[in-house]
Order: sequence, then structure tokens, then C-alpha cells
Amino acid sequence: MLLHIGLDDTDSPSGGCTTYIAARLVERLLALGGRFIDYPNLLRLNPNVPWKTRGNGAICLRLDIDPRNEVQVKRVVIELVEAYSEFDCANTNPGAVFLVGDVPDSLIKFSKRVVTSVVSLEDAFRLIDETGAFALGYKNMRGIIGSLAAVGGLRHGDHTFEFLAYRELESCGTLRVVDADSVRMMDEETRGSTFNNLDPETGRVLIAPHGPDPVLFGVRGESPEAVYRAGLMVSSESIERWTIFRTNQGTDAHLQIHDCLSELEPYSPATVHGEVVEVPQTIQGGHVVFSLEDDTAVIDCAAYEPSGSFRDTVRSLIPGDEVTVSGGVRGNPVGWRLTLNLEKLEVRELTRDVRLVNPVCPNCEGGMESMGRGKGFRCRRCGFRDGELEKRRIEMERTLTSGLYLPPPRAQRHLTKPLQRYGKEKHGPIERGIVELWHWP
Ligand SMILES: [Zn+2]
Repeated sequence: MLLHIGLDDTDSPSGGCTTYIAARLVERLLALGGRFIDYPNLLRLNPNVPWKTRGNGAICLRLDIDPRNEVQVKRVVIELVEAYSEFDCANTNPGAVFLVGDVPDSLIKFSKRVVTSVVSLEDAFRLIDETGAFALGYKNMRGIIGSLAAVGGLRHGDHTFEFLAYRELESCGTLRVVDADSVRMMDEETRGSTFNNLDPETGRVLIAPHGPDPVLFGVRGESPEAVYRAGLMVSSESIERWTIFRTNQGTDAHLQIHDCLSELEPYSPATVHGEVVEVPQTIQGGHVVFSLEDDTAVIDCAAYEPSGSFRDTVRSLIPGDEVTVSGGVRGNPVGWRLTLNLEKLEVRELTRDVRLVNPVCPNCEGGMESMGRGKGFRCRRCGFRDGELEKRRIEMERTLTSGLYLPPPRAQRHLTKPLQRYGKEKHGPIERGIVELWHWP
């Protein structure tokens, strides 16, 4: 029988990782005779929900099992969730969902909602009843939402792969040893089929996280073969295990396209079009903010300090420019303007930058100053006056060009589609099948 196992919310800022539980489960479920029909799925959920722990990633394992082993399989899953979840963290509320048979459309729709917006636990419970799924929730049970979403996720359309390598238990909490030269070489050799290995602006290695969790490094790419090849090229401290996941990372799956600004909702990531109405301002902390409007509303758009040179692009916008912005909408106190945290900026139409400036003195070519509204100008250098002179219009050259702009890879979210993935999107239903080498041991 075909069994889908969804897991979510087992990690905390101080450790743990749902993907690690999945990687360990792979070994245990294979030992029970399970036959995987897909790579373990890693579904990144809406990064803007206020109660997320870290990366907000849920897991689904899809495998054929002997019906006589069903109880034992469930027991193993529960055993590992209970052994490796960070129960002490207030924001960690583990969940697990088991579904037998084909994934119904209602679950696929639900999954899309969980990735793009905020969904209630009641909705999840209703769907569990309807689909006959079996769910298990700990503490406030919020993990059930992500677990159910993982079961309904990644059924068609764009996806990527990640080779995740895990540390030996005794190394966790110490500095990770990942050879930067080997990462640079891997990046060069696999360019086009992997992404976001390095940050081009700083040269920083991006494949290794910095927290206390068991992930040693992760290489992201277009195919299982590509990430397998790339993962084995990285020299590092000793690895306990590795697993290849199929994911929605780097696909923009979280961004819902809206027709107008008034449709935006707090905590729901969006893509929307508008016109710049104020000159961008650099505020305390180095963040850059500008206002955007259309016929229905005005919002603020913010590029944060970590987005580096992306802020220079944002600063070169002027009122009248037409742009499409993408990012998470912040939750705001009632009555305030909504703020969209920029993940992407597409400059559609640049307006002409025409400015009115004081005339130049016809006598000495010095700078002139106004003698009052409609009263003409006086030369600051030679004193020449002319009551008839007016301001002149000059057109400044725009340094910005139209096109798509993203923050550097170090500041991108898991779900943000990087520039090098444009044109590589996968379409249609997922082809069944799995390459031979997708986990170790
Ligand atoms: Zn003069």
C-alpha cells in the first residue's frame, strides 16, 4: 500500500531539524521493507507566518509498504519524532500525518494555501476528517498544518533538489569544517545545475548553516544527479549521513500574484504592481523604504540592510517609475500602511528624470539665485539681475535600467527563485521514479 508520511515543526532555534528526522527515517523504513516512490519532499512553508521556528520546512515521505507493517511503520515514525523533536521550545509544536493511497485534490489546494498564506488548525482538522488521514499533534498541535501541507505538496510544477549532509552527533554545536576551496571548485564545475553555493559579493560559502542543528551543508540544484555529483565534491568533516530531498526551494512558490495593492494581506507573501510615489528614504539601520501606489491603495516597500547592494538599486527609483514588487507583507498595527519586505524588484517603466534648476548667469556663467517667486534671478558671483529669467528644465540620465533585481544570494529566502533559475522551471505532473543513489547509508 502507498503511504504518505508528513512531518513538521520539530526544530527550534537551538537545534533539531525536521529534515534530519526524515533522513534517519529513510534508513529505518527501508529496513522495514519500504520502497520509496519519490525523494523525501522538503516543503518550505510561508516564511512570513509570525510563529515559525527557523526555516519553516515540512517533510513528506512517500513509500510503498507491506500493509502488515503499517502499525510498525507508524511506531517507528512516532519514536523518531519523539526522540529528536525540540519539545522544550515554546514555538515548537510537532505534528505527523499519515495518508494511505492517492493524494486528493483538496489536499493539494490546502498545501498551496499553507505555502502562500495563513491557515487555521480547524481547516486542517476538517481536511483530516474528509480525507481519512491519521494525524498526531503535540503541544498546541500547529505542526499538523505543515505536516498535512507536506503530504499535499510538490505534486506538480516547479521544484528543485537539495543534497543535505548531516554531522556526526558529537560534532553538533562546534564550528563546521567545510573546505571553502572545494565549494568554489564544485560551484564552478556544476554551474547552471546548482545554485546559491557562494555569495558573489562577499565570496562567502552559503551551503553551510551556522546554528547548532545537525545539518553540515546542503547543495541545491536542478536535478538529483546534479546535487549528488556536487555534494560528493565538497570536502568536509566526517558525515554521519546524507539524503537528497525534492523541494520547492528556489521556485517562488510562496508568492501570490495580486491585481491590486488593496488585495494584500498581512503575513501573506505577494507579487504586485504599482507606481513609486515618493523618493526612497534611507532610514535608521541602513534600510531603504519607498511608497508604492495604484488606484486602490498606498503601501511601503522596504529593502533591509542585509540586502546589500540591492538597496542601491532601490535608492535609484524616482516617483513615477512603474515597478512590480515581491515579498512578504508585514503584520501591522491597525490603521497603518502595510509594508512589503522586498525580495524582488522588477523595474517595468522608468519615468524621465526631469528637474527644474536655476538658470546660469548670461554675463559670467555663475550660479544664480531666485529673487522671489516670479521676480527673476540674481547672479551670486557678479550681481547681474534679470526679472524675466525662469528656471530651466534639465533631464538627468537614469542610472537604473529596467529589468529584474534581487538581493544577493546571502540575503535570499529559501523559497526565492534566484536569477539563474529563470528559464529552468519545471512544468506539469511529477514524473515518478527515483535515481539509485539518493541516500547514504
Ligand atoms: Zn554673473
